[in-house]
Amino acid sequence: MADRPLTLMAVHAHPDDEATGTGGVLARYAAEGIRTVLVTCTDGACGDGPGGVKPGEDGHDPAAVAALRRTELEASCRVLGVDHLELLEYGDSGMMGWAANDAPGSFWGTPVAEGAARLAELLHRYRPDVVVTYDENGFYGHPDHIQAHRITMAALELVPDVTSKVYWTTAPHSAMKRFFAAMQEFGTDWDEQAGEAAGPDGGAAEAPELPPIGLPDEEVTTWVDTHAFGGQKFDALAAHASQGENIFFLRMGKERFTELMGTETFVRVRDTTGAALPEQDLFAGLR
Ligand SMILES: [Zn+2]
Repeated sequence: MADRPLTLMAVHAHPDDEATGTGGVLARYAAEGIRTVLVTCTDGACGDGPGGVKPGEDGHDPAAVAALRRTELEASCRVLGVDHLELLEYGDSGMMGWAANDAPGSFWGTPVAEGAARLAELLHRYRPDVVVTYDENGFYGHPDHIQAHRITMAALELVPDVTSKVYWTTAPHSAMKRFFAAMQEFGTDWDEQAGEAAGPDGGAAEAPELPPIGLPDEEVTTWVDTHAFGGQKFDALAAHASQGENIFFLRMGKERFTELMGTETFVRVRDTTGAALPEQDLFAGLR
């Protein structure tokens, strides 16, 4: 453990997910001197283009969107103090059911073993003590989030003796209630937010059933206080300006945002430290 700095690796699907789901812990642990590594699996090409143009609409150039989002991601990483950004550069698969799901090079269409082998190389290189990714539903059902979960769990099997603690992001049901109330207050709805973009033909995405999100409070194992880093988390989200229309948080301002999103929550799915649960620190038992 002493031969390298304590290291946190977060594996995310798209540029901007690092800020939404783990911006607080990335900023907090960087401030505490822990090395932070962000792996972003896709290029985000199914995001909005300049002026909010949606995929499939005239003027949506996926390559240009990917290039812009990479610049925004790098800016977000600077805000959060991320030490190492690793891009797997798979094609954004779009929302479930989109033609982009099966496009050549799409993340969703990539065999899990292939993505896992690439991520395993990064596990060998950085030897993270703690790895964070999504649950098997990708937190809210997006195919790229589900695939990020799958390749991460498979990669951890390929490199079994490195990582002491593995977490999936989650939200306690009590927080989800506050979150949905805030959405209403700030004039958005779940479909708009979950869509990350409108439908591929430019129309509204098929209204999805509200997916099963989060956990009962008592099943959340790990509650990390990141209020002190709420400003950085907000600024990191704001760095993804081209997706601003889809990031309703930005409408609420820093203070409300920090109040609502100032505790990041996880479920611990692997642990070799024996740290007691519930815990308040991803590195409990490691330092
Ligand atoms: Zn995403």
